[in-house]
This record gives sequence, structure tokens and C-alpha cells, in this order.
Amino acid sequence: MNPINNYPQPANRQVEVADILRCHIGDYLKKYNMPPEHYRVVYDILNCRTAYLGGHVEMCDQCAAERILYNSCRNRHCPKCQTITKQRWLSARQAELLPVNYFLEFSKNSSLTNCDYGIFIAMQPLGD
Ligand SMILES: [Zn+2]
Repeated sequence: MNPINNYPQPANRQVEVADILRCHIGDYLKKYNMPPEHYRVVYDILNCRTAYLGGHVEMCDQCAAERILYNSCRNRHCPKCQTITKQRWLSARQAELLPVNYFLEFSKNSSLTNCDYGIFIAMQPLGD
């Protein structure tokens, strides 16, 4: 049993943001006011890929094995939904890398970029 939600979970399951919200959102709301737009984000994260959002059954056409897949919330703030997008972005960036060693350069000079935080980040190959 998972101590967070009392539902049986696989042994290798990691704690998710939704688990933390389930444990603490009640106490948080007793202490603080949450902006209305944040309620939707919390609702989506809590219900993402659960039976609450519905789902469908996939069946293997070779062995007839079935598995249940629950629908995603598709909220851009949801870490579950953004994992695939993040992995695709990282894979695309990794495909652009040259086969050399790289180093990162950080600068606080905001005049170099239009970056919101005024941090300039350059990734340059070290050369061979
Ligand atoms: Zn989601």
C-alpha cells in the first residue's frame, strides 16, 4: 500500500507532484488563499491519468493482452503531461550537438540577451 493515497502501487513507483498535492493541499488551503486560476492546475495535476478523466483499453492484436490507459489532463503545468514534450525537446537538442566536449558559460550581463532573467547561457564546444 502507498501511504500517500492507500491504493496499491508498483514497488518501483516514484513519488509524484500529485502525491504531494494530495497530502498537503488541504492544509495549504486552510492557511493561504489560492488564486482561482491555480485551482484548475491543481485539479488537473491531481486527476491526470486517473480514472477520473476517463480512459480506454488497448488490446494487443497478437496475444489479446489488454491494458488500461487513462487520459491525460494536457495542462501545460502538469509534470506528467510535459515529460514527453521535455524528452522530445532534449532529444532534438542532443541531436544537434557536435561530437566534442562542451562547457557552460554563465553571465549576469542582461544586455547580451532578451532573456527574462538576464542570464546569458552559452554552450560552446571545447574543441578537439
Ligand atoms: Zn497531466
